[in-house]
Amino acid sequence: MTKGNINVSVENIFPLIKKFLYSDHEIFLRELISNATDATLKLKHLTNIGEAKVEYGNPKIEVKIDKKGKKLHIIDQGIGMTAEEVEKYINQIAFSGAEEFLDKYKDAGKDSGIIGHFGLGFYSAFMVAEKVEIITKSYLEDTEAARWTCDGSPEFTLEPADKTERGTEIILHIADDSTEFLEESRIRELLTKYNKFMPIPIKFGTKEINDPDHKPETKKDKDGKETKEPQKKITVDNIINNPNPAWTKQPTELEDKDYSDFYRELYPMQFEEPLFHIHLNVDYPFNLTGILYFPKMTADLNIQKDKIQLYQNQVFVTDNVEGIVPEFLTMLRGVIDSPDIPLNVSRSYLQADGNVKKISSYITRKVADKLKSLFNDNREDFEKKWNDIKIVIEYGMLSEDKFFEKADAFALYPTVDGKYYTYQELFDKIKDNQTDKDGKLVILYASDEDSQHSYIEAAKDKAYEVLLLDSPIVSHLMQKMESTKENITFARVDADHIDNLIKKDDTKISKLSEDQKKELETILKEAIPSEKFMVQLEAMDSDASPFIITQPEFMRRMKEMQATGGGMFGMGNMPEMYNLVVNTNSDLVGEILSTKTKKKQDRLISQSLDLARLSQGLLKGKELSEFIKRSYEMIK
Ligand code: ADP
Repeated sequence: MTKGNINVSVENIFPLIKKFLYSDHEIFLRELISNATDATLKLKHLTNIGEAKVEYGNPKIEVKIDKKGKKLHIIDQGIGMTAEEVEKYINQIAFSGAEEFLDKYKDAGKDSGIIGHFGLGFYSAFMVAEKVEIITKSYLEDTEAARWTCDGSPEFTLEPADKTERGTEIILHIADDSTEFLEESRIRELLTKYNKFMPIPIKFGTKEINDPDHKPETKKDKDGKETKEPQKKITVDNIINNPNPAWTKQPTELEDKDYSDFYRELYPMQFEEPLFHIHLNVDYPFNLTGILYFPKMTADLNIQKDKIQLYQNQVFVTDNVEGIVPEFLTMLRGVIDSPDIPLNVSRSYLQADGNVKKISSYITRKVADKLKSLFNDNREDFEKKWNDIKIVIEYGMLSEDKFFEKADAFALYPTVDGKYYTYQELFDKIKDNQTDKDGKLVILYASDEDSQHSYIEAAKDKAYEVLLLDSPIVSHLMQKMESTKENITFARVDADHIDNLIKKDDTKISKLSEDQKKELETILKEAIPSEKFMVQLEAMDSDASPFIITQPEFMRRMKEMQATGGGMFGMGNMPEMYNLVVNTNSDLVGEILSTKTKKKQDRLISQSLDLARLSQGLLKGKELSEFIKRSYEMIK
């Protein structure tokens, strides 16, 4: 037996390892299984190229709990190591790797970066074990098995062992403060979290299944009663992973069903089908595979984040892909697998990494291309899905200029009549009718069909198209459209009287003289609270409503933008401000002016004002009760 000291520069590294990333102790298992996987894949490679003269067979990795002995075993059938290799790889390389790692990151443990998901390699075993044994036999002929032990001090022992099959067995003597890792349920949880899609089958215990070769017979006794013989059971390995997940295959090998099956596998608790998927597959200038799914979106943007899982060569790393995937796509689901994403760095560093930037713009481009082809291939279906995907698309248009440009090909603008236009189609459709006298194209929209009904109708009477734009961030998007597209403006139908929203040259002649207008203004000012309404006299068609309440576009939109992030500072604190458009050509306004009694005049004004408020949904509470009472009295 050899005894020796691992060459340490820090007096004792193991207490440091133990302390490191306290909450992340569980990653030791992932690290050890990754090593076992590497060792197996190396053997596969060597047999493939004819370097290893052994039968590769169907190797697996086994994880075994020995609760009584307080041990956890990880056993592989990979290349194994000779005693010299243990000396070299475990005592020297692995150790210096761990030391270097700790040296670099011992202060970074608190960094909420991705480092936390990055492991120490083999030595992470000491986060949970008081003693570690390696029993290993190389695939090389005529080599002896070796047994290495280390109890967490720099001392180790190395001696011959009697293992006969090739491969490595790691035995962790679990420390008293880590006995959770002797619980079957805990280990199963970790295996499903980190190793669910690793490329080598992982056995964890056995299970009983129906014997596929046994078809139970049904026998009839002499009374004709039928009895079925019991199904024979067999015991098989309980393999916890799927070594060939969908994303590792070529898109041409997969059917729609395979994609939805894989979605189920990823999210067993998710009952809703995804709307569609995007298969990512690139190997130059970086390596990346994956499948992204568009789920049905709700208006709440935050709760849907953190569903995309990041893998590195089929090993789970994290489900926080912030910085790797553009923000607007973090609402999607699925898997991204890339060996080219540096995991041992903090997130802020990650965002500045050139490769990661390329990955992010590749993903954006792929998503845009897919949306475009879905739109082109089946527009009807795309329109049906629009409501469920618009949030992502609109968010993407806002946050990524590249995506904004591409989105012109598939972003839709639905109308209150259930039609869907692309921007170009909308433009062509409305440019003649909805351009105002200054040459500006006015795009009318509503955010709620019910509460803005009368305004929508007024616009339709003029054969204007009214869009239905109701997502929470649409005010930001309009702002962006107005600043990028030439000479357009968005106006909500209730932002002003329709004739003012799209001003044409034919200014109406007022029935009132200037003096009469002045008189009317004085009367209205007395009766209408000025802190709530700005009175605005307009000469309109005589059959248009006498009083119309509007909410100027600019102020309202700024307030909305602020409520959803951004926009002008301080607007959110502004009181709601409305305009009261008074149609000076209406008969009722004429009557208000000509009425002799003050009482009747007041009644006409308050009744008209209340009707106008009613149509904006602004009449509530006490004022509504009084209005109803007053109305009954009038019809009595
Ligand atoms: P890394 O895996 O990053 O190289 P580790 O500290 O995890 O670092 O392991 C160090 C080395 O020890 C590995 O590179 C490998 O050569 C060897 N090794 C670890 N585990 C095994 C194993 N199960 N089978 C064969 N060799 C192994």
